[in-house]
Amino acid sequence: MSTYNLKDSTVAIHGGRTLDSHASSILFPLYQTSTFVHDAVGVNKGFSYSRVSNPTVDALEKAIGALEATPPAVCFRTGMAAITTLLLSVLKCGDHAVISDVVYGGTMRLFREVLDNLGITASFVDTSDVANVEAAITPATRIVLIETPGNPTLKLTDIEAVSQVTKRHSILLAVDNTFLTPILQKPLDLGADISILSTTKYIDGHNATVGGSIATRDEKLLERICLVRKTLGTTQAPFEAWLTLQGIKTLPARLRLHCEGAEVIARWLETHPAVERVYYPGLDSFPQKALAEKQQRAPGAMIAFELKAGAEVAIRALNSVQLCSRAESLGGLETLITHPSSTTHADVDPELRCRLGISDGLIRLSVGLEAPEDIIADLEQAFAAAVSGVGTKEVPHEIR
Ligand SMILES: *Cc1c(COP(=O)(O)O)cnc(C)c1O
Repeated sequence: MSTYNLKDSTVAIHGGRTLDSHASSILFPLYQTSTFVHDAVGVNKGFSYSRVSNPTVDALEKAIGALEATPPAVCFRTGMAAITTLLLSVLKCGDHAVISDVVYGGTMRLFREVLDNLGITASFVDTSDVANVEAAITPATRIVLIETPGNPTLKLTDIEAVSQVTKRHSILLAVDNTFLTPILQKPLDLGADISILSTTKYIDGHNATVGGSIATRDEKLLERICLVRKTLGTTQAPFEAWLTLQGIKTLPARLRLHCEGAEVIARWLETHPAVERVYYPGLDSFPQKALAEKQQRAPGAMIAFELKAGAEVAIRALNSVQLCSRAESLGGLETLITHPSSTTHADVDPELRCRLGISDGLIRLSVGLEAPEDIIADLEQAFAAAVSGVGTKEVPHEIR
């Protein structure tokens, strides 16, 4: 059955699914095995060794491919394994990449600590202005990698506008779509060549696994990525794939609730006297609201905000939450509260952090599926405790 014309909530449950040929179990089986027996020399049932491919991982790849409206995706042990494998598939010594400046901290570290040493360089530019992308492209540029919304300030990049530039220069455009998933934003339909997901986040959705995926309609590129994946050994594991396959079915339903809650909380934050500013693409005060409406189906469920009283009080507020979990990551059922400058972006040069708007007082919220009024009550008591200083933990010296 072609799943292209079905609604996303149906595709999430049925898209790309293959029936278990052995016992017709409704859930695709977990093939927890390293290797597969050959019927005869050179004759197998399509599987040989789980670093190369595995039926359960294969099932996940078909399911994600159905959501992305692409051939089966390629799944990786982590989101960073996906990004690393992609870049090593398309870049060689002497090549150059253009990357969003507001980007996942690990992507920046990948260049600084690993790829730079291999002679592969990158320019990190403010891709929210497409002129900066055009200006950063050199004859050595092979790929533009953007993240929109960017982490953590949710700065947006116009995917369609950037794709016009990359097409003109005959180079690849990859979009890290982890914050929205193909349910809320379809990079490939907007002109991108590659969609990257950290499946760790909304795709799994239950904080149970780490994983990544790459989807593209370019069959040659897909083949190359699979070859490099089996060479590097960055393939997803069967059990993680099996868990992720369960999570994906509720993705559209979860996202609807995540977004609903985030909208309520963002509006409450914006009117709160202790709050200096709120970054949320659904608010009228968000400078790129029109772009969000153009390329996203919903504003998403990530919020960033700053308290008027500054960094020290913000850290005390983080230390005072009781229902929200102080944790890195995002996209799960539990609301997570993060201090980007000391966690996800701790490795980014402080001066650059400041230029990117990642102040020491910035707080990031991944809105979970608890009742929004309970999260609001928790934040309210945390702000009050932080301002009064009563009963709060010491602020560690190094992040004062
Ligand atoms: C988490 C994340 C990654 C990295 O994924 P891992 O699964 O943690 O390796 C990449 N990009 C974005 C936007 C992320 O949020």
